[in-house]
Amino acid sequence: MKELIHKLQEANVGKVKKQEPLSLHTTIKIGGPADVFVEPNSIEDLKKTMDIITKYDVPWRAIGRGSNLLVSDEGIEGVVIKLGKGIDQLDIDGEEIRVGGGYSLVTLATQISRMGLSGLEFAGGIPGSVGGAVYMNAGAHGSDISNILKKAHILFPDGTMEWLTNEEMEFSYRTSVLQKKRPGIVLEAIFTLKKGDKEQIIAEIKKNKEYRKETQPWSYPCAGSIFRNPLPHYAGKLVEEAGLKGYQIGGAQISDMHGNFIVNADKATCQDVLQLIDHIKKTIREKFGINMETEVEIIGRK
Ligand code: FAD
Repeated sequence: MKELIHKLQEANVGKVKKQEPLSLHTTIKIGGPADVFVEPNSIEDLKKTMDIITKYDVPWRAIGRGSNLLVSDEGIEGVVIKLGKGIDQLDIDGEEIRVGGGYSLVTLATQISRMGLSGLEFAGGIPGSVGGAVYMNAGAHGSDISNILKKAHILFPDGTMEWLTNEEMEFSYRTSVLQKKRPGIVLEAIFTLKKGDKEQIIAEIKKNKEYRKETQPWSYPCAGSIFRNPLPHYAGKLVEEAGLKGYQIGGAQISDMHGNFIVNADKATCQDVLQLIDHIKKTIREKFGINMETEVEIIGRK
C-alpha cells in the first residue's frame, strides 16, 4: 500500500490520504477508515488514479456524497475515490446539459429550475452526486434518472472510457448496469430536459422539498431509505405497521417520522445499524411473510 500511495502522490492526481475516516464522507456520519482515500483534481487525474490502482491490483470504490452508504466500523480495504470538486463541470446547451459525476444533484436541480428547464424537479431533495444518482437510478415523486439521461460517460477499470446510452445503462428500480454487470465510474452525464414554465418548475421543487421536511428526519444524520420498497408494498409503511418506529439499538434509531429511515441519534456505530436492520427484517418476515432487501449499500470490512 505504501508504494501505491507513493505512486499516486508522485503522479500528482489530487488529494491522497491514508486512513481517512469515512464517517467524514457519509451523510449518516458512520464509517471506519479507507486504507487510501483519493480526491482526483480532474477526469484526467481520475483516469491516472485508476491506471495506478489497476497496476497494483487493489480493490477500489468510487463515492460521491456518501448519502446511500453504510460503511463498516472496520473501514474499507483498498482505495476509495471521491468524486467532487474538479469533476463538477457543467455545460448547458439549450435543453441538453452535460454535467460532471461529482456535481451535487440538489444544486443542479435548483440551478436548472431557475433557467426554466424541466425534468429534474424530482431530484431537488436527493442529497447525492450526479454520478451516484446515475449509478443508483435515483428517483422520487414518480420520476427517476432513467427518464432524463441521454448517455453517461463511464471509466472502466481496464482504463477504457465509453459513452453508454440510456438503453445500455439497463436502468430499473434503483439499479443500473454499473451495479453488478459492468462496474465503472460515472465521469459525466448528459441529461435531456424540456423548456417549461420557470415559476411552475420552481414551485414544484419547493413543494417536493416541503413534503420531505414534513415526512423525513432532516435534523439527524441518516442515509435515506434503508430498504427497497417490496412493491406493491412500501417499506416505511410495513415498518410502521409492525410498530417499530422509534425502536433503538445503541445509537441507531428507526425514525419517528419515517419507518424506512434509520437515524444516527447518538454516536451510532455501523454495528448498531446492522443489528437494527436485522431486527427489522426478522420482524417483517415474521409478521407479514415479506423479505426486505436493503437499498442502502453496506460496504467495507466484515
Ligand atoms: P454514494 O452514497 O457516495 O454512493 C452510493 C453508490 O453509488 C456506491 O455504490 C458508490 O460506489 C456509487 N457511486 C457514487 N458515485 C459514483 C460514480 N461517480 N460512479 C459510479 N458509482 C458511483 N435516493 C433516491 O433515489 N430517492 C430519494 O428520494 C432519496 N432521498 C434521500 C434522502 C436523504 C435524506 C438521504 C440521506 C438520501 C436519500 N437518497 C435518495 C439516497 C441517495 O441520496 C441516492 O442514492 C444518491 O443517488 C446517492 O448518491 P451519492 O453521490 O451520495 O452516492
